[in-house]
Amino acid sequence: MLHIRTMFAILYTALTTTLAVCAVKAWRSHKQIGIYVSRLLVSIIPAVVGNLLVIYSSEELLSTIGYYFYFLSIDAIVFSSIHFARTFSHVAWPGKKARLAIQCMLLFDIVQLLLDPIFNHAFDLDPVIVDGKTYFKVTAYWGLTFHRFLCYVIIFMAMGIFLYKVITAPRIYVERYAVILAVMVIAALWQAFYVFSRTPVDRSMIGYSFYGLMTFYFALYYRPRRLLDSMLADISADMNEALFFFDASRRCVWANEPGVVLANIEDEDYERAKDALISIFGEPDLDVGQGNTEPKDWSIKKSVGDKYYSLESHVKRDTHGNITASYLRVRDNTEEQLAFEHEQHAARHDALTGLYNKEYLYQCVAERVKSGDPYSIIFVDIEDFKIINDIFGNDFGDYTLQCVADYLRAVVPDGSIYGRITSDQFGICVRSEDMKTLSASLTEHVVRKDNKEHKLIMHAGIYDVVDPDIDVSVMFDRAHMALQTIKGDYNRHIAKYTDELREQTIWAQEISAELPKAIQEKQIVPYFQPITDAEGRTIGAEVLVRWIHPVHGFLPPIKFIPIFEKNGMIAMVDKYMWRCACEILSQWKDNDKFLSINISPRDFYFMDVAAEICSLVAEYHVEPRRLRLEITETVMMSDIENRIKMIGSLREKGFLMEMDDFGSGYSSLNMLKDMPVDVVKIDMAFLRQAREDNKAMKILRNVIHMTDDLGLLSLTEGVETSLQFEALSSMGCKMFQGYYFAKPLPREAFERYACISA
Ligand code: C2E
Ligand code: CA
Ligand code: CA
Repeated sequence: MLHIRTMFAILYTALTTTLAVCAVKAWRSHKQIGIYVSRLLVSIIPAVVGNLLVIYSSEELLSTIGYYFYFLSIDAIVFSSIHFARTFSHVAWPGKKARLAIQCMLLFDIVQLLLDPIFNHAFDLDPVIVDGKTYFKVTAYWGLTFHRFLCYVIIFMAMGIFLYKVITAPRIYVERYAVILAVMVIAALWQAFYVFSRTPVDRSMIGYSFYGLMTFYFALYYRPRRLLDSMLADISADMNEALFFFDASRRCVWANEPGVVLANIEDEDYERAKDALISIFGEPDLDVGQGNTEPKDWSIKKSVGDKYYSLESHVKRDTHGNITASYLRVRDNTEEQLAFEHEQHAARHDALTGLYNKEYLYQCVAERVKSGDPYSIIFVDIEDFKIINDIFGNDFGDYTLQCVADYLRAVVPDGSIYGRITSDQFGICVRSEDMKTLSASLTEHVVRKDNKEHKLIMHAGIYDVVDPDIDVSVMFDRAHMALQTIKGDYNRHIAKYTDELREQTIWAQEISAELPKAIQEKQIVPYFQPITDAEGRTIGAEVLVRWIHPVHGFLPPIKFIPIFEKNGMIAMVDKYMWRCACEILSQWKDNDKFLSINISPRDFYFMDVAAEICSLVAEYHVEPRRLRLEITETVMMSDIENRIKMIGSLREKGFLMEMDDFGSGYSSLNMLKDMPVDVVKIDMAFLRQAREDNKAMKILRNVIHMTDDLGLLSLTEGVETSLQFEALSSMGCKMFQGYYFAKPLPREAFERYACISA
C-alpha cells in the first residue's frame, strides 16, 4: 500500500498542475472575471506546494519553508478572494480607505510573519510521529493567531458580499452567487477543521484547491439553467414575432406571448395552436411538414386581410439526424410591407402629378408592346409651357401640370399606360384602335385657378409600334420627332411618325456625322451669285454654300442647312464659308468687288461672330468694306441690345450690314428703324407676288422708296426677267440679284463671268 506521504505527493502534484492549467485557461478566457479567477488560482499554488513540503519532509528547515509558503500565500488567497468577490458580484469598495486598510493589514501580517525567526512571536514547530514518520506540527503564538484572524475576517468579508447578493439579487440570479458562497463555506470549514482539530497532518490545502477549482468552473463556465430558461422566456415574450415550438411528434408544446395572442390560446392549451394557425393562414403545412414528406426548413409570406406576415419554420435534429423538435416564427410584416410599397410607389411615380415617371412608364410600355397587339405611342407636349411659368408663376405652372395629369386620367382610354416624361411632356401607350378617340382630346384644355385662366395648346406626336422589339425610348423619340414637325403650329395638333420622317432623321444623322470630314476634304464649296448695279454691271456676289457629295452628288443648301441650323453645326459651315470668302477676296487684288456672306442667327449662340469675322479679315488683310454681312431679322429676336451694339461696332469698322430676306417673315418696316443696317435685301417672294398682284407691286415700290428715304440701299433678290429688272430700276432699286443675270456659279465660272483675274 502506498504510504500516505506518497499519496499526498501525487494528489498535491495533480492539484498544482490542475490549478496551473485552469489559471492559464482563465487568463485566456477573454472574460473580465477570468483575470480575477486566474489570480486566485495562482495564489493557491504556493500554498499547495508549501502544504506538500510540510507533509512530505521530516526536516525542520524544509517544514519551516513549507509553512512560510503556506502562510504567505494564504494572505494572497484572501486578497484575491475579496477582489474576485467584488468583481463577480459587481460590488464596489466602500471607499479607497477600506481597500488601503486591507492592503496595509495584509502587508503588516506578511512582515510580522517574516520577522518570526528573530522574535519567535508567531509560531514554533514541534516534531510529532505519525505512522512512524516525523512531521512538524505548528504551535501558534499571537503572530499566527493574528494572521489567522485577519484571514478569516477577510474571507468572511468575501462571503458577506456573496451572502448580500444572495439576499438582494433577483431570484433567477441567486443561484449564481449561492453556488460560490457554498463552495467558500465548505473550504473555510475544511480549513477550520484542521486549525481547530489539531490534527497532526494539515491537509487544509485540499479545501482551498477545491474552492479555487469550483470558483473557476462556476464563475467561467456554469450557466444556471433556470436563469437561461427564464431569460429566453423573457426575450421571446418581448419579441414582436410569434414563436411556436413543436415536439418530435409535431404537437405544439409552447408559444410565446405574441404567439398566444395570435393563435388565441387559452389556459396554456398549446395543442390547439396548430389548428388556429392553419385556419388563419389557410396553410396545411404549418408544422414541420405534413404527411410522409420529409420535414425541412421553409419560409413563406402571407397576407391576411390588410396584414402581411412572414412565416419561417426550422427543424432541429439530433446527432443521428432524427427530428427532435421544430419551431415556427410568425412575423407581422405589415409596417415594413407598407413602407416598401410606399417606397416603390415613390420610385415609380412622379411626385407632382402622381403619374408614372419616365422610367416606370418605359418599363411598363416595354412589357405591354411585347404582346404584339397593335399599339401606338404618343408624345404629348404643352405649347409654351415656359411662358405659363413666367407669366403666372411656378405654382400655377405646377397646378397646370396637375390639371393635365387629371385630364389625361379622364380622357385616356382604359387599358392604356401613361406617365410624365419630363416637365411638360407626357407619354401614352394606347391600343391603336383607341387612337382616334384619344387624339381628338389631345388638342387643347382650359386651366382655371382663382381668377387666372389659361388655354393650353397641346401637341401630340404619334408613333405606331411596328416593331415591338425596338427600345421603348426609341419609340418615344420617334413620336417626339413627329411632334417636332408641328411644334409652334397652332393649327395642327397631331403628327404621325412616317417613313419620310424616319428617312429625314437618318439623313440628318448621316450628313451631320460626315460634315467635319466634308469640310476637310473640300466637298463643301462656295458658289457665287453675281450682284449687279442698275447698269447691269457686276459689283459683287453672294457666297452660297454647296456640298459636292461623293455619293449623293451635288447638294443644294436646302438639303442640309436647315438640319445644321437645328443642331448648331451651321456655325462650322459658316465659319468655313467666311474663311473661303476672305481668302478669295485677298486673292482678288486688282478690283474692288465685294462678297456677301450669310450669317445664321444660330451662329450667335456658338461663337463671338464679330470677333471671328474681324480676326479673319485681319488674317487675310481684307478691307472690311469688301465683305458684306447678311443677317436676318431673327438675329434681333433675343439679346437685342447686345446685338445692336455688335452690329454697330462692325459697321464702325467698315463692314456693310445687309438685312436678308426682308418681307419674307414677320419682318416689318418697323424693324428697319431699330436694325442698324446699310442694305435691305428684298425677298424674292415679294417680286413673285408683285407679278400677279397690283397691290403687292405698290408695296414693293413703297418699300424701295422708304428704304431710300431712310438712307439705305435696296437690293432685290430673285430677279428672273428683264421686265422685272426694268420695273425695279424705275422704282429706284439700286442692286439686283437673280437668275436673270446668273445662277450661283462655281469660283472659276464666276471669275470669268465678272472678268476677274485672281
Ligand atoms: P438666301 O440667302 O436668300 O440665298 C438666295 C437664294 O436664292 C439662293 O439659294 C439662290 O440660289 C436663290 N436664287 C437666287 N436668284 C434666284 C432666282 O432668280 N430665282 C430663284 N428661284 N432662286 C434664286 P440657295 O443657294 O439654294 O440658298 C438657299 C438658302 O440657303 C439661302 O437663302 C441661305 O438662307 C441659305 N444659305 C446658302 N448658303 C449659306 C451659307 O453659307 N450660310 C448660311 N448660313 N446659309 C446659307
Ligand atoms: Ca443670303
Ligand atoms: Ca435672301
